Amino acid sequence: EKYVYKFGNGTADGHSGMKDLLGGKGANLAEMARIGIPLPPGFTITTDVCKLFQQKGRDAIHDMIFDQALDGLHFIQDVMGTDFGSSENPCLLSVRSGAKQSMPGMMDTVLDIGMNDEAVEGLAKLTGKDHFAWDAYRRLIQMYGDVVMKVVDEHGENPYETVLEEQKRKYGKRYDKDLTVDQLKELVQLYKETTEKYAGKPFPQNPKDQIWGAIMAVFESWNTPRAIHYREIHGISNEGGTAVNVQAMVYGNMGDESASGVAFTRNAATGENVFNGEYLIDAQGEDVVAGIRTPLQITLKASRNWAKFAHVSEKERAEDYPSLEEYMPEIFHQLMDIRQLLEEHFRDMQDVEFTIQEGRLWMLQTRTGKRTGSAMLKIARDMREEGLITDEEALLRLDPEKLNELLHPVFEAGALDKATVIANGLPASPGAATGKIVFFQEDVFTYVERKEPVILVRIETSADDLKGMYAANGILTARGGMTSHAAVVARGLGKCCISGAGALTIDYRNKTMTVGDKVYKEGDYISLNGSTGNVYEGKIDTVEPELTGDFEELMSLADSHARMKVRANADTPDAASVARHFGATGIGLCRTEHMFFEGDRIVAMREMILANNEAGREKALKKLLPMQRFDFEGIFRSMKGYPVTIRLLDPPLHEFIPFELEEQTEVAKSLNVPVEEITRKAEQLREVNPMLGHRGCRLGNTFPEITRMQTRAILEAALNISAEGLEVTPEIMVPLVGDYKELKMQREIILNEAKVVFEEKHASIKFSIGTMIEVPRAAITADKIARYADFFSFGTNDLTQMTFGFSRDDMGTFVPEYLKKGLLKESPFNVLDNEGVGYLVKTAVDLGLKTNKELHLGICGEHGGDPSSIEFCDRTGLDYVSCSPFRVPIARLAAAQANL
Ligand code: ADP
Ligand code: MG
Ligand code: MG
Repeated sequence: EKYVYKFGNGTADGHSGMKDLLGGKGANLAEMARIGIPLPPGFTITTDVCKLFQQKGRDAIHDMIFDQALDGLHFIQDVMGTDFGSSENPCLLSVRSGAKQSMPGMMDTVLDIGMNDEAVEGLAKLTGKDHFAWDAYRRLIQMYGDVVMKVVDEHGENPYETVLEEQKRKYGKRYDKDLTVDQLKELVQLYKETTEKYAGKPFPQNPKDQIWGAIMAVFESWNTPRAIHYREIHGISNEGGTAVNVQAMVYGNMGDESASGVAFTRNAATGENVFNGEYLIDAQGEDVVAGIRTPLQITLKASRNWAKFAHVSEKERAEDYPSLEEYMPEIFHQLMDIRQLLEEHFRDMQDVEFTIQEGRLWMLQTRTGKRTGSAMLKIARDMREEGLITDEEALLRLDPEKLNELLHPVFEAGALDKATVIANGLPASPGAATGKIVFFQEDVFTYVERKEPVILVRIETSADDLKGMYAANGILTARGGMTSHAAVVARGLGKCCISGAGALTIDYRNKTMTVGDKVYKEGDYISLNGSTGNVYEGKIDTVEPELTGDFEELMSLADSHARMKVRANADTPDAASVARHFGATGIGLCRTEHMFFEGDRIVAMREMILANNEAGREKALKKLLPMQRFDFEGIFRSMKGYPVTIRLLDPPLHEFIPFELEEQTEVAKSLNVPVEEITRKAEQLREVNPMLGHRGCRLGNTFPEITRMQTRAILEAALNISAEGLEVTPEIMVPLVGDYKELKMQREIILNEAKVVFEEKHASIKFSIGTMIEVPRAAITADKIARYADFFSFGTNDLTQMTFGFSRDDMGTFVPEYLKKGLLKESPFNVLDNEGVGYLVKTAVDLGLKTNKELHLGICGEHGGDPSSIEFCDRTGLDYVSCSPFRVPIARLAAAQANL
C-alpha cells in the first residue's frame, strides 16, 4: 500500500483532488509542483497512517512506512544535493502537519530537523553564515522541545520563551535576530540545559531520532484538546486525521537578502482585488504569524498610510518600511506572476506562504483563503465578472452562514463623529463591536453570563484563548499583524477584530490598558471598528447595515436560480419589515399568541381564560379583537401583498397565568378578583404534560369563540388594508391537527365566521385555510387532511419533538451527552432528521398531493433557516421555507444552492 507521496522538481505523485488522503497542505503542494511553481521537494505521509497511528501506536507505524519514507528522503536529497545526517552538507527538513481542512495554528510543525552539534558547524562553514546556522539550531531545540518533548516549566509555560527573553534583556537586544553569534551559542547551551531540566533527557542529537520523533508528534497533535475543541467549533469531524509533510528546508533567516512572508491574492477583509500580505526580513516563516516583530507590507499600495496615525512614533513608522515591492522588486514581480497562475489554476482567492532564501523565491503553501462575509461576496462577484467562474460556481462557493456577518450592525454614522479615537490598529476583521474591556478568557465568561457585552483585550492571542474569543463581541490586540492568530481566528469566526494596536500598553496584573497617560480598567466600555482599525472610547450606538452592492447582486442571482421561495417567521409589524428588508417574500408563520403577551393585552387575555362560561369569554375576546386586528393590519401593510400565514392560538392557556403566588396576587389586583380565584384557575389549568395537553386546535375546537374572534380580526384587517388600495393575501393556519375531523371542524368555524364578516362589511376577500403538520398522525393521514386544507406547513419543531419523543424543553439533560457518544450526529432540532422526521414530511407531501393537487407546501420550523435542511426541503418538493427574519438571506442562498 502507498503511504508516502512525493512532490517537487516539477512533478508529484498526488494532486489537489486528494485532500482526504494528503491533507489540504500536501495535496496543494503536489498541485503546485505539477504546475511548475518553485517549492522545496518533499513527501506527504497520508492521513490513513494517522488513523492507523491511533489504533496501532508508533512502533507499528514506524515499521510500516519506513521503506517508503526512506525512498522519499532519497528523493529530497537528490533534488537538493544535500545529505540528511551529514555534518558537512546537512539536509535539514521541516515536518509539517496538514489535515483536510486547515486548522490554523492548531497542530504542530517542526522546522530545521537534522541540526545538531556537528551539523551546525558544518552548515556554518558551508554557507559562511555562522549567525544563520546557530539561529537555526536554537530554533530547532526550541520547537522540538516544545512540540515533540512537550517541555513546560513549573508554571505550565514554555520555558524557552523565558530563557530567550532573559538572553535578550541581558544583552540589551530588542529582537531575537539582534543576538550575536556568541550570544546565540550561549542560548543553544541554555536551551539544552532547559530541555534536560524539564524533559529529564537531553535534546536528541541523532537526526533519525529527531525526524521520527517529529512525525509521531504531528500525528499525535491531531488529538490534542485544543485541536479537538477547534474542530468542535468549526464543525469538522474527528475522523479524518492529519497528514504529515516532510520537506527540505529553505532558509528565510540567512540575512538581509532572505525573508519569509504570507500573502493573499486578494484582500481577505474587503475582497478588493489587490495582492497583499506581510513579510519579515531575515526570519523564518513562523515569525510572521507569531507576532515576534511587526511585519512589513508586501504591496506598496497596501502599506499603511501613516499620515492618518499621528500618535504612531517615528520609529514605528520607519519599521513599516520598506514594502517588498520596493525592497525586492524582482521577487515581488515573480510573486505577482505566481499569484496570477494560482488564481487561474485554483480559480479562487489563495492564501500563500513563501520564503526568500538569498534572493531566491520558494513557495511553501497555498490554500483557498479564509475571508470575511463581505470579501466572500466581492470576490465571487468580481471573479464572475472577470470570467474566472460561472454563475453557478459563484453561488455554490458562497457560504450561507457567512452572510450572517453582513447582517449585523455597524456604527451609526453620526455617532462616530462625536466618538474619540484612542488608538489605531490593523483592520483585521470588519464589523462594529462595543463592549466592556476584559483581559482574560475566564472573565469573558463571567461578563457574558451576566449578558454584558465584552471586548477581549490581549497583548496577543493564542490557541488557548479560542473560547473567549468566540464568546466576546470583539477582539483587540496590541501586537501582531493581519495574519496574526487573533486576526485569522476572528475572520474565521466572523468576529470584529483589531490587531497590532501598538499604542496600547496592557498590564495583565492590574487589569488595565493604557494609552498615553490615559488608563482604562476592566469593565470600561470601548468600541472597535474592525473595518478601519479605529479603537474608540466608550459605548457607541450601532445601526443595521445597508444591504446593497455585492449583496444585492448575488442575492438576486440566487433568487433567479432558486425554485423554492423564502418566507419569514414574524409576529409583529417590525419583524415583518425586517423580513422584507432581507428579501422575504411572505410570512410563513405569524404566531398570534406572541401578541397577547404585550402590554395590557395580557390582562384581557387573562380575563378570557378566567371566564367561567362562553359569554364571559366572548366579552373578554371583544377586547382582544381590536388589538389583534391592529397588529394584522400592520403586518399586512409591511408585506405588500405577499402571503401572510397566521396561526390560530396554539399554546396551552396556563402559559398566560403565573404560578407564583406573588404574581398571582398582582394579576388578581389588576383584574379586580380575589387571588383565590386566580390560584384555583391556575391549579385547574395545570397539566402534567402541557405540550401534549389542551392546546393547538384543541383550544379552538373546545372554545370556538377563540377561533371566531381570530378569524374576524384577520379578515377585518385584510378588508381594511384592501380598502386602502393595497393587496393582501391572508392564510389562516390551524395548529396541531392530528385527525382530519379536527381540521374539518375548524374550517367550518372559520368559513362561517368569514361569511358573517363579509356580510356585515358588504365586501369579501380571498383567503386560504391550511394546517400545520406537526403531529406524526397528521403526516400519516395527510391524504384525508388535505381534503380540508389549501396548504400544509410543516411545523418541524413539534414534529421532531413528537417523532423522537424528545422534549424540546428538556433536551439539555441528555442531548449533549448523546452528541458526545455519537448517538446523535447533530441535534435534530437544528438539522432536520432526514431519515425519520424527513420520512414523515415526504410521506405527508406524497399523500397530501394525492387528494389535493393544488396543495401548497412549506416548512416553518427552525429548520427552515438551516442550509442542509433547506436542501432536503428542495428535494422533497416544498414550495417555500420560512425562517427567522435574520436568516432569510441565508435561506435564499441555500435555496438556490439546493436547486443547482
Ligand atoms: P501552519 O499550518 O501552522 O501554517 P506550516 O506547516 O505551514 O504550519 O509551517 C509553519 C511555518 O513554517 C510556516 O510559516 C511555513 O512557511 C514555515 N515552513 C514550513 N516548512 C518550511 C520549509 N521547508 N522551509 C522553510 N519554512 C518552512
Ligand atoms: Mg502554513
Ligand atoms: Mg407547534
